[in-house]
Amino acid sequence: MSVLDKFNLTGRTALVTGATRGLGAEFAVALAEAGADVVVHGRDAEAAEETKRKIEALGRAAHVVLGDLTGPGAADAVVDEAIAAVGHLDILVNNAGACIHKEALDVTDDEWDHVIDTNLTALWRMSRAAGRHMVERGSGSIVNIGSISALIVNRPQMQPAYNASKAAVHHLTKSLAAEWAPKGVRVNAVAPGYIKTDMSPVDEPRFQRYWIEDAPQQRYATPDEVAPTVVFLASDAASFMSGTIVVMDGGYTLY
Ligand code: NDP
Repeated sequence: MSVLDKFNLTGRTALVTGATRGLGAEFAVALAEAGADVVVHGRDAEAAEETKRKIEALGRAAHVVLGDLTGPGAADAVVDEAIAAVGHLDILVNNAGACIHKEALDVTDDEWDHVIDTNLTALWRMSRAAGRHMVERGSGSIVNIGSISALIVNRPQMQPAYNASKAAVHHLTKSLAAEWAPKGVRVNAVAPGYIKTDMSPVDEPRFQRYWIEDAPQQRYATPDEVAPTVVFLASDAASFMSGTIVVMDGGYTLY
């Protein structure tokens, strides 16, 4: 077996949450490029179809599962529908997320709940539902999308709920990894720095000083720079990795 064969996902199935745009859409297509059949999840039906078309153009099977991930039963329904569509799940990428920029004293209970429900509780419920299935099968790989916001406090915008949610995602990643490692299921996370998407308006001049000039590489990244690491963690190339948080931030957290 050559080294590149270990990255090959032919015959594997993957579910990517929030695959309608930004990082998630890129991850879904990258997993298909590596050979996986992919379930594209999101709320925006038209955008999900667009990601599906890109995957099918690669000769891979793609299915769309729509739905908000927050609220009781929502994550279980998405996982059940995904398994029904592809037969079984080898890979789950917990990517869907939300961020609110607001100073702590101005954050309302609803805003706090919205961010925590989306970034942490939904990710936990998705992991529990997919993890149950993977543990039963004795194999699987979960890749969580964390953030450098779990490691530092971003500037100049304040986002306390987001930062707390991502710190919890990193530690939940380690907790599930420890519990499920003996059962054949790996759980890892990627912690990106600033990546150009709707969530991170990296071109806005007000962010230049702190987001770009503070980073040793002096730039932001694009989603295609993050996707290979998600493929790597999902694949057998990372067979001895579990509970790891891979930081990719152009050196941002070095200072
Ligand atoms: P975007 O805002 O571009 O996309 C967010 C995605 O999440 C969309 O597909 C959206 O679906 C989905 N989503 C949000 N809320 C829900 C919900 N309640 N139920 C279902 N789906 C939902 O963000 P990014 O691509 O930038 O972010 C992707 C992940 O990467 C997030 O977890 C984010 O925290 C993380 N991240 C991003 C960084 C960046 O700089 N961009 C840096 C570090 C981490 P829909 O389109 O249907 O609304």
